[in-house]
Amino acid sequence: MASGAVLWFGEEMSAVPLRNNKAAASAVRSVTVLGATGSIGDSTMDLLRGARDRYRVEALTANSNVQALAGLAREFGARFAAIADPARLSELKDALAGTRIECGAGESAIIEAAARPADWVMAAVSGAAGLKPALAAVDRGATVALANKECLVCAGDFFMERAARAGACILPADSEHNALFQALSSGNREELERVIITASGGPFRTWAPADIEQATLEQALKHPNWSMGQKITIDSASMMNKGLEVIEASYLFALSPDEIDVLVHPQSIVHGMVEFSDRSVVAQLGTPDMRIPIAHCLGWPDRIVGPSVKLDLAKIGQLTFEAPDYGRFPGLRLAYEALRTGNGATTVFNAANEIAVAAFIAGKIRFGAIARLVEATIDDWLRSGNLAPLDSADEAISVDHNARNRAAALLPQIALKAT
Ligand code: NDP
Repeated sequence: MASGAVLWFGEEMSAVPLRNNKAAASAVRSVTVLGATGSIGDSTMDLLRGARDRYRVEALTANSNVQALAGLAREFGARFAAIADPARLSELKDALAGTRIECGAGESAIIEAAARPADWVMAAVSGAAGLKPALAAVDRGATVALANKECLVCAGDFFMERAARAGACILPADSEHNALFQALSSGNREELERVIITASGGPFRTWAPADIEQATLEQALKHPNWSMGQKITIDSASMMNKGLEVIEASYLFALSPDEIDVLVHPQSIVHGMVEFSDRSVVAQLGTPDMRIPIAHCLGWPDRIVGPSVKLDLAKIGQLTFEAPDYGRFPGLRLAYEALRTGNGATTVFNAANEIAVAAFIAGKIRFGAIARLVEATIDDWLRSGNLAPLDSADEAISVDHNARNRAAALLPQIALKAT
């Protein structure tokens, strides 16, 4: 096995490392941030800003925000900057004039950024567009901090197997998975009973179904605890995000759906827990600040000094927990069903959700119709008998593409249908 690929719970086909596989960290590490201009990108750049002596920036990418990308590339002296929108290349060149920063545009340039020789890559492009760039980093055996959950939801086992084969090291950057990653090292696979992912419950946690149905974009974007990008904030309001995270946890840690529970925890202080056979429950806690899990990934296998505020439990006073409501938040139920179905169903789940969220943002469907469109797309796909394991990125991308078309075709009838 290549040096970066390590065992997880004794299973050879996993790329999530064990804590005791500690490698000596080199003095200065090169890093690439895919999605540098987004919410996760911003938190990552903030951490890098505070540790300039330890990290050198190889490449930075964005979708269309040229000015922010160029500003970061200049600030950090990046070697390469890539913009996904091909029409923005000349604008990017102008913005980088007078520097020695190379640049490129289009999907191939984002992939090139990921393929360049950085020790550590933050995969924080949003949506399924993040899959190919993340694979480019994985294929060269890099250490990849994975924020983009859609990679796993779309390509699942295949993604993790490819990472293990390439000797890549996948570090979970999503707060709940990072919490599980930290807690899991307290026991081994045989001793594991279950993992528990917490959910804030989002802005509609206490809302009646009729009000959730009619919720506006502005209301959906008011997350009670976390400051995040638009898509994931809406996913949090529908609890689709928790569904995506259940699927993500299953693939990351090779867990069955029955080994993953969700618990609503409105304060977002406990991010994940692991229960072992002796009934010990090991939890990771922290303020709701993405710089904490990202700092864990950035420093791994060591810990760096983070800028986040210290957790003050006395001030918080109460931590409360409640069971999720699968009736008011059907997205979570659909995620479990897709995970149990397997064979591309989670890819369809994700693709349909992306179409549904975009339609909601565009004012084409009600908030409540997001889950209905996802369910209708999965049903339609199951009826067509397209169940098959996904063995390549192209297959995953093809299922993703077909599911988007199906969801788009179903959209008008879902939009018209009243609850
Ligand atoms: P944002 O929308 O804030 O940022 C997305 C980033 O990806 C931006 O840099 C954007 O560029 C770039 N991008 C968007 N589309 C494309 C594309 N087609 N090709 C190339 N680049 C693209 O998202 P977040 O930072 O919130 O989330 C990123 C990922 O991390 C998601 O998968 C999300 O689920 C996950 N995540 C996020 C968390 C959070 O707290 N935000 C928590 C845990 C996971 P531009 O600025 O030019 O549009």
